[in-house]
Amino acid sequence: KTPVPSDIEISRSQKPKKVTTIATELGLLEKELEPYGHYKAKVDARLVLDRLSSQAEGSNFENGSYILVAGITPTPLGEGKSTTTMGLTQALGAHLGYNSIANVRQPSMGPTFGVKGGAAGGGYSQVIPMDEFNMHLTGDIHAISAAQNLLCAAVDTRMFHESTSKTSKGFFKRLVPVKKGVRQFTVSNLARLEKLNINKTNPDELTDEEIERFAILNIDPDSITIKRVVDCNDRFVREITIGEGKNEASKYPPRKTGMDITVASELMAILALSTSLKDLRQRVGRVVVGTQKETGEAITAEDIGCAGAITALLKDAVKPNLMQTIEGTPVFVHAGPFANISIGASSVIADKLALKLTSPSNPINAGRKGFVVTEAGFDFTMGGERFFNIKCRSSGLKPDAVVLVATSRALKLHGGAPDVKPGQALPVEYTTENIDYLRKGCSNLAKQIANVKQYDVPVVVAINQFETDTAAEIQAIQDEALKAGADFAVPTDHWAQGGLGALNLASAVVEASSRSAKKDTTFLYDVNSSVEEKLSTIAQKMYGASGIELSPLARKQIDTYIQQGYDKLPICIAKTQYSLSHDPLLKGVPTGFVVPIREVRCSAGAGYLYALAAEIMTIPGLPTHAGFMNVEVDEDGDIEGLF
Ligand code: ADP
Repeated sequence: KTPVPSDIEISRSQKPKKVTTIATELGLLEKELEPYGHYKAKVDARLVLDRLSSQAEGSNFENGSYILVAGITPTPLGEGKSTTTMGLTQALGAHLGYNSIANVRQPSMGPTFGVKGGAAGGGYSQVIPMDEFNMHLTGDIHAISAAQNLLCAAVDTRMFHESTSKTSKGFFKRLVPVKKGVRQFTVSNLARLEKLNINKTNPDELTDEEIERFAILNIDPDSITIKRVVDCNDRFVREITIGEGKNEASKYPPRKTGMDITVASELMAILALSTSLKDLRQRVGRVVVGTQKETGEAITAEDIGCAGAITALLKDAVKPNLMQTIEGTPVFVHAGPFANISIGASSVIADKLALKLTSPSNPINAGRKGFVVTEAGFDFTMGGERFFNIKCRSSGLKPDAVVLVATSRALKLHGGAPDVKPGQALPVEYTTENIDYLRKGCSNLAKQIANVKQYDVPVVVAINQFETDTAAEIQAIQDEALKAGADFAVPTDHWAQGGLGALNLASAVVEASSRSAKKDTTFLYDVNSSVEEKLSTIAQKMYGASGIELSPLARKQIDTYIQQGYDKLPICIAKTQYSLSHDPLLKGVPTGFVVPIREVRCSAGAGYLYALAAEIMTIPGLPTHAGFMNVEVDEDGDIEGLF
């Protein structure tokens, strides 16, 4: 057997089709496509959806089948969800003749140059060209960094200028622009007036008291939760002090803050959850930046006057990016990863677009229903839980089946085998048969299956085969998965064989998705229950915890959200991806633990509360031997060392 070459070698050896060809195969029109180079393009989802819905008049324009790929609790090496997403789409599209689209997230350059590497999949199941995919793509993440940093600069500048301004009247004059010789309110000014119940459109008519309320935000510096961002693993910006320059510090006290990784920012979550550019604009306006000192009022990006500019920076980012798999099937790349500390799902816009393109009513499909395969980050209990309770709540969509990816290596780890470390050889327990560790570790798979079942969807376990797996090991996983209630459990070899290796998986998925009974999504909790109840429900029903414990800070923050009316939102809990619990060392299926909730932030624009469990970091650090050290470029511009 010839060994499988490296991911970048495989990617480079395959000549991609022109993106215009991929678009034509999808039935997209020239005006709906904005090529970026030869192999990537932005797609104007609104134009496509308008066209398709006008064609569908009178007929029921049902969606294609919606398949979610999730995983068991992973090792730091990754268990092959992205690889399986690609392999499954290739099998369905290039071998079984379905219109089949993979919807994935744009990788963050943090992991690409850190521990884990890129997120293009691997082996013969990849998005290509993988170097373009893993780095800048079409600049969406850069646009989000620019927008988030603009907002942060606007907030600090506002506090600085308010503190140094002599009168609120003078300050008011500087906030409301003069256009054509007349002072006129901006869209944001008008929104602020509406919020304050001031029913005036002529700036000259405001009373002194109204001017004071309108102009002076008086944000409590300690209440600011938005942070500047960078798309790089950088532990040194977790805590920083800003405003130390001589000119600033002499007028306004420096402030302690920190930075997050861009892909975990609220603006990235907004990109993932928005349904249109208009919806994005409204969500951006609702982003809470801090709280007013005296009144406790939530101050938003709209109040700061920044929401229009942020939307301008994101107006292209809102369009999904079209690429292809190694077998030439279409891939939409949109929104960002990090399902441990954020939503970590591809966008609602891309999913809606792909589901209509794969509709049996779309003329190019000649009545045959196609497939959209998308991915939720990390294990089902993290990415999958947010996918159902936050993303599906926002989109109104429901997956027809969940594919749960399992590997012998992760199962052995959960069964008690020694730890695996990136960059180090796997211990012998992983490369030789060990049914004992494997069967024990299947408790984690069983818990994940049970967790999926709580959402009333069929579950297909994909056993992502590694070269060293034995037939007895594969059989053991299959037995345990079926015993735990999986609808199907099949080995799949797409990493080594591409789509051909995933034909069994594809057949199981086709069958499972046709069984999907209920149309409406089953949610885990009622958004109208209290914040504490929602947190407890997720911790108990998904993680297997006995309960939660709120820190005094978290309690205080929840009280603020109750007062501000943000307590009836769904919740995203940021926690480690390496355990069902909050403690990365607890493998298998831990029980009886209490999840400490350190902090609760509000992402009012994205539309959820964001709780931090234990000591979870919102920007990773780099290891000693980081991915970036392997990367070189030759004189032709060909890249080596990306994986
Ligand atoms: P995830 O999406 O679950 O994090 P990935 O699909 O990114 O995982 O895979 C993680 C790494 O493991 C990638 O480098 C990929 O090439 C490799 N990999 C995945 N499946 C296999 C397999 N069956 N055999 C060998 N390597 C694999």
